[in-house]
Amino acid sequence: MDFALTPEQELMRDAMRRLVAREIEPLLADHPAEHSLPKRAFLHALACLAELGVTGARLPESAGGTGLKMLDYGIMMEQLPPQIGVSLIGHEASTTRLHADGNDEQRARLLPDFIAGRRLFCTGSTEPDTGSDPRGVRTRLTRRGDRLLLNGRKMWITNVSACDAILVTCLDAREGESNGKVIKVVVERERSNFDAREIDTIGLKQGLLGEAVFQDCPVEARNVVASSAGGTEVLKTSWAVNRPLFGLFAVHLAQRAFDMALDYARVRKQFGKPIAAHQLVQKNLSDIATAITTSRLLCYHALAMIDLGAATEGVAAMAKRYAQNACQEALWQAMNVFGAMGLSTEAKVEALYRDMRMIAIPDGTNEILALIHGRDLTGFEAFRGLAPRP
Ligand SMILES: Cc1cc2nc3c(=O)[nH]c(=O)nc-3n(C[C@H](O)[C@H](O)[C@H](O)COP(=O)(O)OP(=O)(O)OC[C@H]3O[C@@H](n4cnc5c(N)ncnc54)[C@H](O)[C@@H]3O)c2cc1C
Repeated sequence: MDFALTPEQELMRDAMRRLVAREIEPLLADHPAEHSLPKRAFLHALACLAELGVTGARLPESAGGTGLKMLDYGIMMEQLPPQIGVSLIGHEASTTRLHADGNDEQRARLLPDFIAGRRLFCTGSTEPDTGSDPRGVRTRLTRRGDRLLLNGRKMWITNVSACDAILVTCLDAREGESNGKVIKVVVERERSNFDAREIDTIGLKQGLLGEAVFQDCPVEARNVVASSAGGTEVLKTSWAVNRPLFGLFAVHLAQRAFDMALDYARVRKQFGKPIAAHQLVQKNLSDIATAITTSRLLCYHALAMIDLGAATEGVAAMAKRYAQNACQEALWQAMNVFGAMGLSTEAKVEALYRDMRMIAIPDGTNEILALIHGRDLTGFEAFRGLAPRP
């Protein structure tokens, strides 16, 4: 077992760091911290990220992607500010899902613009009454005459307010009453307009989280995705990769807080010496560094297992839940190192804490992740009864 990054991994990490310093950080600094970035800023970031191959990270080269190893993808994602990183995952995972479930014509027509970062994509799975349990989908696709119409509402969708297209999970009611089959449709904004708005949240305020309402929204027949793997199956496999990636966003935020706290502790003096020389401040810093290191290793481990093709649902769930919890606590401690200054918006460490809080929800809340891991460990399904899994 080798814990050092390979020279290639160091190159990829450093390339992403340079891109973040050159393109992403100035972009974030040029726009108000409390509002969503404008679409053109997101598209600029996406186009830059496309050059590093991360917009097609999970797609094979034959489909125009880069077929990255998931560990390498994670090492790069860890360097990205989560306002952009969460948007990238929303976009790239949607592209991956379309590739997995779409037909050749859909892939050829739609994927190139998403991979190049020319158009912004997202997945609408969550609804007002359908959150942790994805099987409760109510959004319906019906047929009226020769037209297909979509009706429903999708909540908490990354990228939706600025997206060019959304991959919507819905019930197939084209032949009258739905038999409960969940399918997906791609709704392209320029042809099938729908209402979308941003939702203001505690953190990741420069991101693009929102809701979409479909009212007799026309859907082109060629955009119905005849899922081969089953409507929710591909969602599940993409979640397994997303979870450690979200864990690495938690690591990113905690690492930044640690760096800021260490700098501050070296210069801030109390009782005649730098607070960094006080034993309990050193313990604080030690706890923060421990949380970062263990979280990072666990997320890398989960991604490496995915690369090996091992069964990973449980370990991926464990990695995100552990990293989010440990790094949230680490950030709390980093704020304490700053004393009252940690609470001020001026020091900016509180913004990292608010961003961290957001990581606990998408792609599985901490409770749901514990149950997924528990199911993996015990073989018992706690969600819907106690029957052992087949
Ligand atoms: C930043 C962000 C990005 C997101 N991006 C997307 C996106 O791109 N696309 C998309 O479709 N959705 C997205 N979501 C939505 C997200 O996937 C859901 O919010 C999440 O699945 C939880 O659903 P919910 O909010 O409806 O909570 P609920 O499912 O209503 O859960 C409420 C509470 O009950 C708990 N709970 C629920 N069931 C159980 C159980 N069986 N046992 C124990 N506790 C339980 C939960 O843990 C939670 O604490 C995003 C959310 C956020 C915050």
